[in-house]
Amino acid sequence: MTDASSPTTTTAFGTPGTPGAVRLVLLGSGELGREVAIEAMRLGCEVVAVDRYEGAPAMQVAHRSRTIAMTDPDALRELLRDERARPHARMLVVPEIEAIATPVLEELEAEGVHVVPTARAARLTMDRAGIRRLAAEELGLPTSPYRFCSSAEELRAAVRELGFAASPDRFVPCVVKPVMSSSGKGQSVVRSPEDADGAWAYAQESGRTGASDVICEGFVAFDYEITLLTVRHAGGTAFCAPIGHTQEDGDYRESWQPQPMSEAAAARAEEIARAVTDGLGGHGLFGVELFVRGDEVLFSEVSPRPHDTGMVTMASQRLSEFALHVRAILGLPVPTDGAGYVPLLGPSASAVVLGHRDLDAPAFAGVGDALAVDPSVELRLFGKPESRPGRRLGVALARGADVAEARRHAVAAAEAVRVEG
Ligand code: AMP
Repeated sequence: MTDASSPTTTTAFGTPGTPGAVRLVLLGSGELGREVAIEAMRLGCEVVAVDRYEGAPAMQVAHRSRTIAMTDPDALRELLRDERARPHARMLVVPEIEAIATPVLEELEAEGVHVVPTARAARLTMDRAGIRRLAAEELGLPTSPYRFCSSAEELRAAVRELGFAASPDRFVPCVVKPVMSSSGKGQSVVRSPEDADGAWAYAQESGRTGASDVICEGFVAFDYEITLLTVRHAGGTAFCAPIGHTQEDGDYRESWQPQPMSEAAAARAEEIARAVTDGLGGHGLFGVELFVRGDEVLFSEVSPRPHDTGMVTMASQRLSEFALHVRAILGLPVPTDGAGYVPLLGPSASAVVLGHRDLDAPAFAGVGDALAVDPSVELRLFGKPESRPGRRLGVALARGADVAEARRHAVAAAEAVRVEG
């Protein structure tokens, strides 16, 4: 399975900074971008890290960095044209975040620039409306019931409709999220119809772009939720073992792999992940978020790039999600077992290290204590120049005889790290 835009394995990897270079332009330079940069540099690629602020994590390891607002179409166009004009053998534009002026990516793609996985995938996943409509309305995949709302009045009506859908006497909660948001920003649960106005106001204050439409979803009482990392590569589609995770305030706290699933649920999860990633197209790793209740699986969201909950693969797999993404986008082989899964080293877990207050240049104490929790423990401290309450500053990774033990190690290690001024 290859398509016209996909690179082949015949590329030579020339010296970074020379006309033979294979250049990755990373749009977004957070902790996930930093790992992508490191994996690409291991293969001899030239990496240019872009973000809206200087000193972002991936900038600290890249060959070059550039600071622009990626939502500004003119600034983004100028930057990508400039990178294209510098001598290189091959150039890939690799989005790491949603908030990008995606029409510019479509424009450049039409001029022959390779956008990962495709400019259309970046556009459809940049807000919740594009991907939800593709999954539920075009592909017919099961999702929570939902309505998009452009005003407090529309949200009030949607909350009543979805909340009382099953019975007029019993209100089922709804989840309200700005369509332009991620990591739980502006997200709230509406537990009674009177909460609708508060949820609207909260979404307007906290979305990515300020004022924003919202999606109102029926609350899904799932047994557990997973991320199914799915790799579309030159040789076909591969999966990673399902990743279970916990979320607080819409943001991830712990993840582990493998999440035990019934055979029927696992098969259904694969089917949905394949359908949605085929629908988006291109080559790369995707994080498909699914809710599971018994053998029933609902599609929630997808990232056309490595996923935060997938950081556990830095402990659980020889090739992490970042290494797999780089291999897939470059047209390189992705090794799998007979069932199409990337081999797992063993039960593993991740737990996040969060900031607790506003601090410039945070420092981390307790690193030695964290690493002493278990010989399997590793840390990634992201080097973010500012701490804020709830901001993810690092992650602890660990292995164990089983998932429960791996989680205990990862949580204990994360708790041992103290963020100081
Ligand atoms: P999202 O940003 O859409 O991935 O949402 C963040 C988290 O909020 C999810 O991982 C779930 O834990 C929770 N969540 C989101 N939507 C729903 C829903 N419709 N029902 C129940 N929980 C949800």
